[in-house]
Amino acid sequence: MKYSSKERLTQLIKEKAKVLGFNFCGISKAEKLNDEEAKLESWLAKGFHGKMSYMENHFDLRLNPTKLVTGAKSVISLLYNYFPGKEPPANSKYKIAKYAYGKDYHFILKDKLKSFLGYLRQEIGDIDGRVFVDSAPVMERQWAAKSGLGWLGKNTLLINKEQGSFFFIAELIIDLELEYDGPIKDYCGTCTKCLDACPTEAFVDAGVLDASKCISYFTIELKDAIPEKFKGKYENWVFGCDICQDICPWNRFSKPHSQPAFYKTEGVKAVTDDEWIEFTEEVFRKIFKDSPIKRTKYKGLKRNIDFIK
Ligand code: SF4
Ligand code: SF4
Repeated sequence: MKYSSKERLTQLIKEKAKVLGFNFCGISKAEKLNDEEAKLESWLAKGFHGKMSYMENHFDLRLNPTKLVTGAKSVISLLYNYFPGKEPPANSKYKIAKYAYGKDYHFILKDKLKSFLGYLRQEIGDIDGRVFVDSAPVMERQWAAKSGLGWLGKNTLLINKEQGSFFFIAELIIDLELEYDGPIKDYCGTCTKCLDACPTEAFVDAGVLDASKCISYFTIELKDAIPEKFKGKYENWVFGCDICQDICPWNRFSKPHSQPAFYKTEGVKAVTDDEWIEFTEEVFRKIFKDSPIKRTKYKGLKRNIDFIK
């Protein structure tokens, strides 16, 4: 075999991750996430997942990548920056989460991951593996933390010490033994800014989110009417919410991404208050054709706007 040592294989993978535009790459042994089992069980038992019943499925697979990918030896975690940089004043008071400014990241990252796996097969030979980006029961943040790419902040997100938290997380789970990275320390310290800033009081404790109270859940995941008790607490978010990230001091270190696909699409840039309120289903389809915003569907976005207008 061309790459005879774990060290050399690991180096090859980390170099290729950079070439493909991933900002950080960390690797862990594929094994059951024992520490997460009780936490996940209790989180689900308390109903913090709201109506996202899919979270209850595949409990074992979620905790154990070797059940998800036969023969899995390593989980390669990858971070891809989507921080847009300093922004000009918006045309509209309605806000959308930064991750949804551009084209749907699933397609962009999936293509990169497939080409990553293809490259490894070409260089190394017949390896078995699967690629993931938000698409299967993989505990992405936990794997990224275990691989030293950051720590899980009190806002439950992965915080990278060099660049904050505005990252997409993706994984490659493969049957190759590699050199493993270790977790790093938690640098939240005594800060509680994210917990204090959440307008819907969705954090029940540091690092514990009741997702059923989160604006991201209401505006993207929930199919029913938004409970009236949250009226007036939305701070004009109509798709997702960035408050607990924008407030995090570690995001002072965020750097603008350089991926054209994630720049604001013309439609998103042009939408004014009046347009948000008046656009038809046809306009919605056109403006958000390749956007993650499509997920909430026309009806969902209208509901979100009506809830705050
Ligand atoms: S995304 Fe917004 S609503 Fe959800 S926990 Fe963070 S601050 Fe609260
Ligand atoms: S705002 Fe403070 S407590 Fe919250 S994740 Fe950032 S550093 Fe941690």
